[in-house]
Amino acid sequence: MIKYGSQSISEEDLAAVLDVLKSDFLTQGPAVPKFEAALNEACFSKHTTCCSSATAALHLSLLTLEVGVGDIVWTSPISFVASANAALYTGAKIDFVDINLNTFNICEIELEKRLKLAAKEGALPKVLIPVHMCGASPNMKAIKEICDEFSVKIVEDASHAIGASYLDVAVGSCSYSDITVFSFHPVKIITTGEGGAALTNCSVLDQKLKLLRSHGITRDNSLISSDIGGWYYEQHELGFNYRMTDIQAALGTSQLKKLDEFIVKRQSIADRYNITLKDSGLNLPIEPIGVESSWHLYVVRTNDKYKRRKLYDRLISAKIGANVHYIPIHLQPYYQKLGYKLGDFPNAELYYDTCLTIPIHPNLSEDDIGFICDVIVSD
Ligand SMILES: *Cc1c(COP(=O)(O)O)cnc(C)c1O
Repeated sequence: MIKYGSQSISEEDLAAVLDVLKSDFLTQGPAVPKFEAALNEACFSKHTTCCSSATAALHLSLLTLEVGVGDIVWTSPISFVASANAALYTGAKIDFVDINLNTFNICEIELEKRLKLAAKEGALPKVLIPVHMCGASPNMKAIKEICDEFSVKIVEDASHAIGASYLDVAVGSCSYSDITVFSFHPVKIITTGEGGAALTNCSVLDQKLKLLRSHGITRDNSLISSDIGGWYYEQHELGFNYRMTDIQAALGTSQLKKLDEFIVKRQSIADRYNITLKDSGLNLPIEPIGVESSWHLYVVRTNDKYKRRKLYDRLISAKIGANVHYIPIHLQPYYQKLGYKLGDFPNAELYYDTCLTIPIHPNLSEDDIGFICDVIVSD
Protein backbone atom coordinates (compact mmCIF):
# COMPACT_ATOMS: atom_id res chain seq x y z
CA MET A 1 0.00 0.00 0.00
CA ILE A 2 1.28 3.49 -0.87
CA LYS A 3 0.26 5.54 2.16
CA TYR A 4 -1.36 8.97 1.76
CA GLY A 5 1.00 10.38 4.37
CA SER A 6 4.03 9.08 6.22
CA GLN A 7 6.85 10.15 8.49
CA SER A 8 10.45 10.22 7.29
CA ILE A 9 12.95 9.17 9.97
CA SER A 10 16.71 9.48 9.40
CA GLU A 11 19.78 8.02 11.14
CA GLU A 12 20.27 11.46 12.76
CA ASP A 13 16.75 11.25 14.22
CA LEU A 14 17.51 7.83 15.70
CA ALA A 15 20.77 9.06 17.21
CA ALA A 16 19.07 12.12 18.73
CA VAL A 17 16.47 9.93 20.44
CA LEU A 18 19.11 7.48 21.65
CA ASP A 19 21.13 10.32 23.18
CA VAL A 20 18.17 11.34 25.31
CA LEU A 21 17.51 7.76 26.38
CA LYS A 22 21.09 7.58 27.65
CA SER A 23 20.87 10.97 29.39
CA ASP A 24 19.60 11.95 32.86
CA PHE A 25 16.23 13.27 31.70
CA LEU A 26 13.54 11.46 29.74
CA THR A 27 11.12 14.28 30.51
CA GLN A 28 11.32 17.80 32.02
CA GLY A 29 14.97 18.04 30.97
CA PRO A 30 16.72 20.38 28.53
CA ALA A 31 15.43 18.89 25.25
CA VAL A 32 11.97 20.51 25.39
CA PRO A 33 13.18 24.12 25.86
CA LYS A 34 15.75 23.43 23.12
CA PHE A 35 13.02 22.32 20.68
CA GLU A 36 10.90 25.30 21.71
CA ALA A 37 13.77 27.69 20.96
CA ALA A 38 14.36 26.01 17.60
CA LEU A 39 10.66 26.39 16.73
CA ASN A 40 10.77 30.09 17.65
CA GLU A 41 13.73 30.55 15.34
CA ALA A 42 12.18 28.60 12.47
CA CYS A 43 8.75 30.26 12.74
CA PHE A 44 9.69 33.81 13.85
CA SER A 45 7.61 33.54 17.02
CA LYS A 46 8.69 34.82 20.43
CA HIS A 47 7.43 31.92 22.58
CA THR A 48 6.57 28.25 22.11
CA THR A 49 4.95 25.77 24.47
CA CYS A 50 5.40 22.17 23.34
CA CYS A 51 2.59 19.84 24.37
CA SER A 52 1.66 16.17 24.28
CA SER A 53 -0.46 16.80 21.15
CA ALA A 54 -1.96 19.56 19.03
CA THR A 55 -5.29 18.73 20.63
CA ALA A 56 -3.76 19.49 24.05
CA ALA A 57 -2.20 22.68 22.64
CA LEU A 58 -5.59 23.80 21.28
CA HIS A 59 -7.25 23.07 24.63
CA LEU A 60 -4.58 25.04 26.54
CA SER A 61 -4.76 27.89 24.01
CA LEU A 62 -8.49 28.33 24.57
CA LEU A 63 -8.14 28.12 28.36
CA THR A 64 -5.33 30.66 28.21
CA LEU A 65 -7.66 33.03 26.33
CA GLU A 66 -10.13 32.43 29.17
CA VAL A 67 -12.65 30.50 27.13
CA GLY A 68 -15.10 28.60 29.31
CA VAL A 69 -18.76 27.97 30.09
CA GLY A 70 -20.93 30.66 28.52
CA ASP A 71 -18.44 31.41 25.74
CA ILE A 72 -18.66 30.58 22.05
CA VAL A 73 -15.87 29.39 19.74
CA TRP A 74 -16.10 29.22 15.95
CA THR A 75 -14.06 27.04 13.62
CA SER A 76 -14.19 25.44 10.18
CA PRO A 77 -16.46 22.44 9.60
CA ILE A 78 -13.74 21.02 7.33
CA SER A 79 -11.11 20.03 9.86
CA PHE A 80 -10.16 17.19 12.11
CA VAL A 81 -12.66 16.91 14.98
CA ALA A 82 -10.02 18.11 17.46
CA SER A 83 -10.42 21.73 16.27
CA ALA A 84 -13.98 21.73 17.61
CA ASN A 85 -13.58 19.25 20.47
CA ALA A 86 -10.99 21.51 22.12
CA ALA A 87 -13.65 24.18 22.53
CA LEU A 88 -16.13 21.72 24.03
CA TYR A 89 -13.53 20.58 26.61
CA THR A 90 -13.64 24.10 28.07
CA GLY A 91 -17.41 24.06 28.44
CA ALA A 92 -17.81 26.60 25.63
CA LYS A 93 -20.25 26.25 22.76
CA ILE A 94 -18.95 25.55 19.27
CA ASP A 95 -20.21 26.82 15.93
CA PHE A 96 -18.85 26.68 12.40
CA VAL A 97 -18.24 29.08 9.52
CA ASP A 98 -18.65 27.61 6.05
CA ILE A 99 -15.66 27.25 3.75
CA ASN A 100 -14.62 28.77 0.44
CA LEU A 101 -14.73 26.00 -2.16
CA ASN A 102 -11.53 27.18 -3.86
CA THR A 103 -9.35 27.18 -0.74
CA PHE A 104 -11.21 24.73 1.57
CA ASN A 105 -10.62 27.30 4.33
CA ILE A 106 -13.07 29.47 6.26
CA CYS A 107 -14.66 31.98 3.86
CA GLU A 108 -13.93 35.50 5.10
CA ILE A 109 -17.04 36.93 3.43
CA GLU A 110 -19.22 34.39 5.23
CA LEU A 111 -17.30 35.13 8.45
CA GLU A 112 -18.05 38.85 8.21
CA LYS A 113 -21.73 38.18 7.51
CA ARG A 114 -22.01 35.79 10.44
CA LEU A 115 -20.17 38.10 12.86
CA LYS A 116 -22.45 41.02 11.99
CA LEU A 117 -25.45 38.82 12.68
CA ALA A 118 -23.95 37.45 15.91
CA ALA A 119 -23.21 40.99 17.12
CA LYS A 120 -26.88 41.90 16.65
CA GLU A 121 -27.94 38.79 18.54
CA GLY A 122 -25.40 39.33 21.30
CA ALA A 123 -23.84 35.95 20.50
CA LEU A 124 -20.34 36.83 19.32
CA PRO A 125 -17.67 34.15 19.62
CA LYS A 126 -14.78 34.81 21.99
CA VAL A 127 -12.30 32.95 19.76
CA LEU A 128 -12.15 31.95 16.10
CA ILE A 129 -10.03 28.92 15.15
CA PRO A 130 -9.16 29.23 11.43
CA VAL A 131 -7.70 25.99 10.07
CA HIS A 132 -4.82 25.90 7.57
CA MET A 133 -6.45 23.17 5.51
CA CYS A 134 -3.92 20.99 3.63
CA GLY A 135 -1.12 23.36 4.73
CA ALA A 136 -2.37 26.48 2.94
CA SER A 137 -3.03 29.53 5.07
CA PRO A 138 -6.49 31.03 5.15
CA ASN A 139 -6.72 34.72 4.22
CA MET A 140 -5.47 35.68 7.67
CA LYS A 141 -5.09 39.40 6.95
CA ALA A 142 -8.78 39.74 6.12
CA ILE A 143 -9.79 37.38 8.92
CA LYS A 144 -7.77 39.37 11.46
CA GLU A 145 -9.28 42.68 10.32
CA ILE A 146 -12.81 41.32 10.63
CA CYS A 147 -12.13 39.65 14.00
CA ASP A 148 -10.52 42.82 15.38
CA GLU A 149 -13.65 44.74 14.51
CA PHE A 150 -15.67 42.44 16.77
CA SER A 151 -12.93 41.84 19.40
CA VAL A 152 -12.72 38.15 18.53
CA LYS A 153 -9.43 36.46 19.45
CA ILE A 154 -7.73 34.11 16.97
CA VAL A 155 -6.08 30.71 17.49
CA GLU A 156 -4.71 29.37 14.20
CA ASP A 157 -5.00 25.61 13.88
CA ALA A 158 -1.91 25.24 11.73
CA SER A 159 -1.58 21.52 12.46
CA HIS A 160 -0.99 21.02 8.71
CA ALA A 161 1.13 24.04 8.10
CA ILE A 162 4.56 24.14 9.74
CA GLY A 163 6.96 25.21 6.98
CA ALA A 164 4.25 27.10 5.09
CA SER A 165 4.23 30.86 4.68
CA TYR A 166 1.66 33.60 4.25
CA LEU A 167 2.47 37.03 2.78
CA ASP A 168 6.17 36.12 2.95
CA VAL A 169 6.12 35.34 6.69
CA ALA A 170 6.37 31.87 8.21
CA VAL A 171 3.14 30.38 9.53
CA GLY A 172 3.66 30.32 13.29
CA SER A 173 4.86 33.93 13.46
CA CYS A 174 1.41 34.82 14.85
CA SER A 175 1.38 37.98 12.72
CA TYR A 176 -2.40 37.67 12.45
CA SER A 177 -3.34 35.73 15.58
CA ASP A 178 -2.93 35.42 19.32
CA ILE A 179 -1.72 31.82 19.24
CA THR A 180 -0.77 29.34 16.50
CA VAL A 181 -0.91 25.58 17.01
CA PHE A 182 1.11 22.89 15.22
CA SER A 183 0.77 19.09 15.30
CA PHE A 184 3.68 16.69 15.18
CA HIS A 185 1.65 13.53 14.60
CA PRO A 186 3.51 11.20 12.18
CA VAL A 187 1.32 12.07 9.17
CA LYS A 188 2.07 15.78 9.61
CA ILE A 189 5.07 17.67 8.19
CA ILE A 190 7.55 16.91 11.00
CA THR A 191 6.95 14.45 13.81
CA THR A 192 7.60 13.74 17.47
CA GLY A 193 5.43 10.59 17.49
CA GLU A 194 2.64 12.35 19.31
CA GLY A 195 3.08 16.04 20.00
CA GLY A 196 2.07 19.59 19.31
CA ALA A 197 2.96 23.17 20.13
CA ALA A 198 1.33 26.51 20.86
CA LEU A 199 3.26 29.54 19.61
CA THR A 200 2.64 33.13 20.66
CA ASN A 201 4.32 36.53 20.76
CA CYS A 202 2.68 37.43 24.08
CA SER A 203 4.68 36.58 27.20
CA VAL A 204 1.58 36.64 29.43
CA LEU A 205 -0.17 34.05 27.24
CA ASP A 206 3.03 32.02 27.12
CA GLN A 207 3.35 31.92 30.92
CA LYS A 208 -0.24 30.78 31.23
CA LEU A 209 0.21 28.09 28.56
CA LYS A 210 3.25 26.72 30.39
CA LEU A 211 1.53 26.88 33.78
CA LEU A 212 -1.53 24.98 32.53
CA ARG A 213 0.62 22.43 30.67
CA SER A 214 1.99 21.17 33.97
CA HIS A 215 -0.85 20.98 36.54
CA GLY A 216 -1.00 24.74 37.11
CA ILE A 217 2.06 24.36 39.32
CA THR A 218 4.77 27.01 39.59
CA ARG A 219 8.20 27.14 41.24
CA ASP A 220 8.81 30.67 39.97
CA ASN A 221 10.33 32.65 42.86
CA SER A 222 8.69 35.83 41.68
CA LEU A 223 5.27 34.21 42.17
CA ILE A 224 5.80 32.22 45.40
CA SER A 225 7.66 32.67 48.70
CA SER A 226 11.25 31.69 48.04
CA ASP A 227 12.37 31.39 51.68
CA ILE A 228 10.29 28.31 52.54
CA GLY A 229 12.67 25.80 50.98
CA GLY A 230 13.82 24.29 47.72
CA TRP A 231 11.05 21.70 47.76
CA TYR A 232 8.32 24.30 47.73
CA TYR A 233 5.88 24.78 44.85
CA GLU A 234 2.39 26.14 44.50
CA GLN A 235 -0.56 25.17 42.36
CA HIS A 236 -2.25 28.34 41.08
CA GLU A 237 -4.62 26.95 38.45
CA LEU A 238 -6.33 23.65 37.65
CA GLY A 239 -3.85 22.52 35.02
CA PHE A 240 -3.10 19.29 33.22
CA ASN A 241 -0.24 17.00 32.40
CA TYR A 242 0.04 17.96 28.74
CA ARG A 243 3.84 17.88 28.67
CA MET A 244 5.98 16.68 25.78
CA THR A 245 8.78 14.29 26.77
CA ASP A 246 12.48 14.96 26.12
CA ILE A 247 12.53 11.87 23.91
CA GLN A 248 9.89 13.44 21.66
CA ALA A 249 11.46 16.90 21.74
CA ALA A 250 14.87 15.54 20.65
CA LEU A 251 13.19 13.86 17.70
CA GLY A 252 11.41 17.13 16.96
CA THR A 253 14.60 19.20 17.00
CA SER A 254 16.25 16.70 14.66
CA GLN A 255 13.22 16.62 12.34
CA LEU A 256 12.99 20.41 12.28
CA LYS A 257 16.45 20.56 10.68
CA LYS A 258 14.93 18.86 7.64
CA LEU A 259 11.82 21.02 7.47
CA ASP A 260 12.96 22.96 4.39
CA GLU A 261 13.97 19.75 2.64
CA PHE A 262 10.59 18.15 3.43
CA ILE A 263 8.71 21.17 2.08
CA VAL A 264 10.77 21.23 -1.13
CA LYS A 265 10.02 17.54 -1.65
CA ARG A 266 6.30 18.00 -1.00
CA GLN A 267 6.21 21.03 -3.30
CA SER A 268 7.89 19.03 -6.08
CA ILE A 269 5.32 16.23 -5.73
CA ALA A 270 2.51 18.81 -5.86
CA ASP A 271 4.10 20.39 -8.95
CA ARG A 272 4.23 17.01 -10.65
CA TYR A 273 0.57 16.27 -9.85
CA ASN A 274 -0.37 19.77 -11.04
CA ILE A 275 1.26 19.14 -14.41
CA THR A 276 0.38 15.47 -14.94
CA LEU A 277 -3.25 15.74 -13.82
CA LYS A 278 -3.92 19.08 -15.57
CA ASP A 279 -6.24 17.50 -18.16
CA SER A 280 -7.62 14.71 -15.97
CA GLY A 281 -10.99 16.42 -15.48
CA LEU A 282 -10.26 16.76 -11.75
CA ASN A 283 -10.24 20.09 -9.94
CA LEU A 284 -6.70 20.52 -8.66
CA PRO A 285 -5.78 22.48 -5.53
CA ILE A 286 -4.64 26.09 -5.91
CA GLU A 287 -2.32 28.31 -3.90
CA PRO A 288 -3.90 31.76 -3.62
CA ILE A 289 -1.56 34.73 -4.15
CA GLY A 290 0.60 35.22 -1.05
CA VAL A 291 0.08 31.65 0.18
CA GLU A 292 2.87 29.09 0.06
CA SER A 293 1.49 25.75 1.22
CA SER A 294 3.40 23.14 3.19
CA TRP A 295 1.48 20.61 1.04
CA HIS A 296 0.51 18.45 4.01
CA LEU A 297 -2.34 17.08 1.88
CA TYR A 298 -2.95 17.08 -1.86
CA VAL A 299 -6.74 17.14 -2.33
CA VAL A 300 -8.37 16.80 -5.74
CA ARG A 301 -12.07 17.32 -6.35
CA THR A 302 -14.33 15.39 -8.71
CA ASN A 303 -17.47 16.75 -10.36
CA ASP A 304 -19.78 14.61 -8.24
CA LYS A 305 -19.81 12.08 -5.43
CA TYR A 306 -20.19 9.07 -7.76
CA LYS A 307 -16.98 9.97 -9.59
CA ARG A 308 -15.24 10.44 -6.24
CA ARG A 309 -16.35 6.99 -5.07
CA LYS A 310 -15.18 5.39 -8.34
CA LEU A 311 -11.81 7.09 -8.17
CA TYR A 312 -11.40 6.18 -4.50
CA ASP A 313 -12.20 2.51 -5.20
CA ARG A 314 -9.86 2.41 -8.21
CA LEU A 315 -6.97 3.84 -6.17
CA ILE A 316 -7.57 1.52 -3.21
CA SER A 317 -7.72 -1.52 -5.56
CA ALA A 318 -4.35 -0.44 -6.93
CA LYS A 319 -3.05 -0.32 -3.33
CA ILE A 320 -2.83 3.46 -3.33
CA GLY A 321 -3.91 4.88 0.03
CA ALA A 322 -6.41 7.49 -1.09
CA ASN A 323 -8.34 9.10 1.74
CA VAL A 324 -10.98 11.73 2.50
CA HIS A 325 -10.15 14.81 4.61
CA TYR A 326 -12.48 15.49 6.24
CA ILE A 327 -15.99 14.33 7.04
CA PRO A 328 -17.54 17.68 8.05
CA ILE A 329 -17.42 17.93 11.83
CA HIS A 330 -21.06 19.00 12.08
CA LEU A 331 -22.12 15.72 10.41
CA GLN A 332 -20.47 13.54 13.06
CA PRO A 333 -23.08 11.76 15.21
CA TYR A 334 -21.80 13.50 18.34
CA TYR A 335 -22.26 16.92 16.76
CA GLN A 336 -25.63 15.97 15.28
CA LYS A 337 -26.74 15.33 18.86
CA LEU A 338 -25.77 18.95 19.58
CA GLY A 339 -28.30 20.02 16.94
CA TYR A 340 -26.36 20.30 13.68
CA LYS A 341 -27.85 18.82 10.55
CA LEU A 342 -27.23 18.18 6.89
CA GLY A 343 -27.63 21.45 4.99
CA ASP A 344 -26.16 23.69 7.71
CA PHE A 345 -22.88 24.30 5.84
CA PRO A 346 -23.52 23.63 2.13
CA ASN A 347 -20.01 24.36 0.83
CA ALA A 348 -18.44 22.07 3.41
CA GLU A 349 -20.90 19.33 2.47
CA LEU A 350 -20.33 19.73 -1.28
CA TYR A 351 -16.58 19.71 -0.66
CA TYR A 352 -16.91 16.53 1.39
CA ASP A 353 -18.88 14.76 -1.35
CA THR A 354 -16.27 15.49 -4.00
CA CYS A 355 -12.86 15.63 -2.30
CA LEU A 356 -10.15 13.01 -2.41
CA THR A 357 -6.70 13.04 -0.83
CA ILE A 358 -4.00 11.43 -2.93
CA PRO A 359 -0.61 10.49 -1.46
CA ILE A 360 1.96 13.17 -0.70
CA HIS A 361 4.93 12.65 1.63
CA PRO A 362 8.73 12.70 1.48
CA ASN A 363 9.09 8.93 0.98
CA LEU A 364 7.19 8.83 -2.33
CA SER A 365 9.42 7.86 -5.25
CA GLU A 366 9.19 9.23 -8.80
CA ASP A 367 7.83 5.81 -9.80
CA ASP A 368 5.16 5.94 -7.10
CA ILE A 369 3.97 9.34 -8.35
CA GLY A 370 3.96 8.13 -11.96
CA PHE A 371 1.97 5.06 -10.97
CA ILE A 372 -0.55 7.11 -8.96
CA CYS A 373 -1.08 9.48 -11.90
CA ASP A 374 -1.49 6.55 -14.31
CA VAL A 375 -4.16 4.95 -12.14
CA ILE A 376 -5.99 8.30 -11.75
CA VAL A 377 -6.15 9.00 -15.50
CA SER A 378 -6.83 5.36 -16.46
CA ASP A 379 -10.64 5.77 -16.36
C1 LIG B 1 -3.89 16.38 13.30
C2 LIG B 1 -4.78 17.54 13.56
C3 LIG B 1 -5.13 17.93 14.85
C4 LIG B 1 -4.79 17.13 16.07
O1 LIG B 1 -3.44 16.90 16.18
P1 LIG B 1 -2.91 15.88 17.30
O2 LIG B 1 -1.47 16.27 17.43
O3 LIG B 1 -3.10 14.50 16.75
O4 LIG B 1 -3.67 16.12 18.53
C5 LIG B 1 -5.89 19.07 15.01
N1 LIG B 1 -6.30 19.79 13.95
C6 LIG B 1 -6.00 19.44 12.70
C7 LIG B 1 -6.46 20.30 11.58
C8 LIG B 1 -5.25 18.29 12.46
O5 LIG B 1 -4.98 17.90 11.20
